[in-house]
Amino acid sequence: MTDLNTLGEIGLIDRIRQTIPKPTHKETIQGIGDDAAVFDWGDDFGLFCTDMLVEGIHFDLTYVPLKHLGYKAVTFAVSDIAAMNGLPIQITVSIGLSSRFTVEAIDELYAGIRAACKAYNIDLVGGDTTSSRSGLIISVSALGKVPKEAITYRDKAQVNDILCVTGDLGAAYMGLQLLEREKQVFMADSGMQPNLSEERTYLVQRQLRPEARTDIVHELRDLGVVPTAMIDVSDGLASELLHLCRQSKLGAIIFDENIPIDDQTYLAADEFNISPITAALNGGEDYELLFTVRPQAFEKLATNSRITAIGYISSDSKYVGLSTKAGQLTPIKAQGWQGIFSLT
Ligand code: ADP
Ligand code: MG
Repeated sequence: MTDLNTLGEIGLIDRIRQTIPKPTHKETIQGIGDDAAVFDWGDDFGLFCTDMLVEGIHFDLTYVPLKHLGYKAVTFAVSDIAAMNGLPIQITVSIGLSSRFTVEAIDELYAGIRAACKAYNIDLVGGDTTSSRSGLIISVSALGKVPKEAITYRDKAQVNDILCVTGDLGAAYMGLQLLEREKQVFMADSGMQPNLSEERTYLVQRQLRPEARTDIVHELRDLGVVPTAMIDVSDGLASELLHLCRQSKLGAIIFDENIPIDDQTYLAADEFNISPITAALNGGEDYELLFTVRPQAFEKLATNSRITAIGYISSDSKYVGLSTKAGQLTPIKAQGWQGIFSLT
């Protein structure tokens, strides 16, 4: 028998993909392999994706309020729709519950889900409810749409495209470090109150209540810019950049001094003795968008403070590199996949 860790998550998904027959319906435009599946919906393309969160793996209820968790679960799915340059329309929410949850706890969870539906303008149209032996499980499936001419896949980047990222990176990871540290302090002495000062609010908020960048999808539409490729940053910039480059069969160079990092992320990284660049590259859970545009199209985005150019796409498909301020060039490697199944 083969240990799942010999494949890792990406290897496993790839193995499953190879066993699944190619789509047979003419309506199926894109199957496994992008942020969302794509189907022909007449005037528009329809988008469809699903995400699952498992207690103890994706969240820790000792410091994650259920209301925030509900919001975050919807954000995960909406972010994948945004990564196709689309907007969400409907979601279904499925939950697995153990007997330790109260009715009031589930009310809290749904208060967060409702708030997200309002913020993203989504109808909640169904789901499933089941019992669970391993705590809380939440799965959100989302349906969205995008005008056909605006669909954005992971694999259509072109040589010399400008690599852009929205917002800032690494903050959600530093927020997690802060929350984990408070948890350790609390467990050592349950009389201690969490010590999360005001300045840390941004980091904690980025971890607990991330926003999917549907605002950027609207903005790109208003400016008449269609990215050549796009992916959402759920697992860290390094991993997403490698996906985008591998699938586009091209390489890239990014510049460390251009990676957008908030001042609070710098301060916390310093305190935890973590490189802020490492937090941005490998931290994950930022839910920003990483996309490529033709150099001419970038001119329309250049003055936008929510979008930062971090590098460019190159023809050398074997090389995805980070150029440092000190003038060094180092290859970018993804982290976080190995050992993912080793928890149980
Ligand atoms: P994301 O991080 O954007 O949610 P994933 O890495 O989870 O994407 O998935 C990559 C692709 O693999 C997606 O197209 C997804 O639908 C597909 N996928 C993931 N898990 C499975 C599975 N168990 N069976 C079939 N397809 C899967
Ligand atoms: Mg994604």
